Amino acid sequence: MPNTLCDSHGRNINYLRLAVTDRCNLRCTYCMPKGCFAPRNELLNYDELLRVVRIFAGLGIGKIRLTGGEPFVRKGFVDFLAEIHSVTGIKEVGITTNGTLCFDQIQRLKASGVTGINFSLDTLSPTRYQKITGSDLFHEAFAAIMEAIIQGIRVKINVVVLDNDNSDELLHLARLAENYPVEVRFIEPMHFNGSGKFTPPHWNAMRLKGFFLENLSGCVEILKKIRPHGSTAQLFKVKNYSGIVGIIAGHSRSFCASCNKVRLTPQGMLKNCLYDNGVLDMKGLLRSGADDREIIIAIQNAVAAKSADGFIVEKDRRDFVPRSMATIGG
Ligand code: SAM
Ligand code: SF4
Repeated sequence: MPNTLCDSHGRNINYLRLAVTDRCNLRCTYCMPKGCFAPRNELLNYDELLRVVRIFAGLGIGKIRLTGGEPFVRKGFVDFLAEIHSVTGIKEVGITTNGTLCFDQIQRLKASGVTGINFSLDTLSPTRYQKITGSDLFHEAFAAIMEAIIQGIRVKINVVVLDNDNSDELLHLARLAENYPVEVRFIEPMHFNGSGKFTPPHWNAMRLKGFFLENLSGCVEILKKIRPHGSTAQLFKVKNYSGIVGIIAGHSRSFCASCNKVRLTPQGMLKNCLYDNGVLDMKGLLRSGADDREIIIAIQNAVAAKSADGFIVEKDRRDFVPRSMATIGG
């Protein structure tokens, strides 16, 4: 049996985004303004998650990103991470976090070989941070970012661009990449805000690109050919910046053609695309006593049917219910 995962469009899938929990200590307006969580026994436990990782690693998945919800709210998360590193075939382990709970763990993460951390930070104002996230933990988040930079961990900063809340801070936020060797990525808000309502952003990827090219002196786009494979960000070099600036067209979806990713939700549902409803109930398989071979075949079949892009998936779904990104694993 080949140890690769391919879809019918010739894309090689080598990246798993694994959501370890749907819980979070923040309530970001664009993600999960109200907490609403699955019962604990519906989440995959660590043994199940580790088995999933081993199976995917055997299928050629070399890169894993752990996310949630907020991964650091789950007890035992850092130990779990160390276990993932020991799985044969896993070469890169990244984390996406709001950074508010992990300052003390950064050295340990570095020691356990975490290859990169994506921090969410939508504003440089503690007052606005409170408004956007419902918490006063701005300084904790910022300190964790600084500590990760000091420890030499590859850092990306995710900024969801909110028309009315932070779009006047774009240049300030971009300048984090002037002063630090980080990638600051400006993300279009997507449907997955847990409210059922969505207005397409005025500050979309096209407008952001025009804005940065015009307002960041010496800003040039890095050609697609030399961007990392599967990168969802359009990347920009800026003269005299130590880091880079990126734009993620999550709503406009301009990157699907090179998608190399699948997701596993905290409840163990495999997703080929953010916009699908789940393509394989992995928890059901794991808990029904399926052996590895059966699970591998089910994964291969599900991934083979991955759609060409997220627009097709959205159109095909009559029951499209935009859930919170925290229940999917952003
Ligand atoms: N709690 C962690 C964090 O905030 O980084 C990890 C989970 S969060 C769901 C993962 C990423 O999804 C974050 O960068 C967050 O900003 C982004 N996100 C959440 N809701 C979103 C939405 N509706 N549209 C676009 N990005 C969103
Ligand atoms: Fe929590 Fe991250 Fe969602 Fe904010 S974006 S509510 S920090 S899961």
